[in-house]
Amino acid sequence: MKKESIRTVPIDSCEGQVSDGLSYLNLTRVAFPSIRKSETVKMDDEQKKIEWNGIVVSIQPRSTVWRYLIDNRTHRECGYNIFLKGEAYLGSELLQHDSACNQYDFCVAISEKQEAKLKIHIGDELKGTGWTKKYPETEFADYYRAGSLKKLKAGDSDYAQDMGVKIDDVNTRYDGTPIPRVYSSDYPGPPWSTSVPPLEIYAWRGERMLSKASWRGKCFRCIWANMANVTIQYDFDRNLVLNRFETFCYGPLSCKYYNMGPARVVPYKGMSGVKDQGWLDEICVEYRNDPDE
Ligand code: SF4
Repeated sequence: MKKESIRTVPIDSCEGQVSDGLSYLNLTRVAFPSIRKSETVKMDDEQKKIEWNGIVVSIQPRSTVWRYLIDNRTHRECGYNIFLKGEAYLGSELLQHDSACNQYDFCVAISEKQEAKLKIHIGDELKGTGWTKKYPETEFADYYRAGSLKKLKAGDSDYAQDMGVKIDDVNTRYDGTPIPRVYSSDYPGPPWSTSVPPLEIYAWRGERMLSKASWRGKCFRCIWANMANVTIQYDFDRNLVLNRFETFCYGPLSCKYYNMGPARVVPYKGMSGVKDQGWLDEICVEYRNDPDE
């Protein structure tokens, strides 16, 4: 299989969120297989509009991943997940959440355009609306289709620092395409808790598997941490898929906090023991020029 077939590609749409396509470079999109939902995926026909408010404790890229055995792992970044300590209401009813770690209460998916407009970072006090999920098993964020976003109070300016984007036309893609880069080592970290860069930066950097314990713990406030909505192609003939959530890291290859965690089983009908041991990571980050990047 050619390397290009499993490269991360920038920006398309995720369910409930349309990408805004902010772009430093005019990149080619790679077709994504059309996937029918497995019969096992439950649909909630009654999506509800909620209102929320809270303090941002982390902001990370929102992404989808498509897996097929260990032949293909395609990542697409489609917005950001903001993690908040706060409250959400359905009418006058205070909603309860079952968050993935004790560092936040609930998670709201926002678009790249919304992030670019408000420049959301850790410590900001926000309010807005959102919708409950249509497919709870395929979407990690508690709420999406966020609206009426308002920053009530800006957090500490240390968290608002912008990572400068540099266009690298020396160490390019194989066809000469220049690569937009940011250099993490120029900023305090780990974890890196600056403003988030544009999604295109994430797409070019690529990602490695990150242990769930690290994501829940010391990586949680890092802009390079990621909880992805993963679809596994389980049976091509009947077009059946499985869904789960997985943690990844877009951060520097030299990060001292990095821990891949155990190899990940990638099920396929009639096959057992197939695991992503990490070699796909090497291909996903193939355009990194500098381990401290
Ligand atoms: S391992 Fe990745 S997510 Fe964790 S602190 Fe380092 S760069 Fe950030």
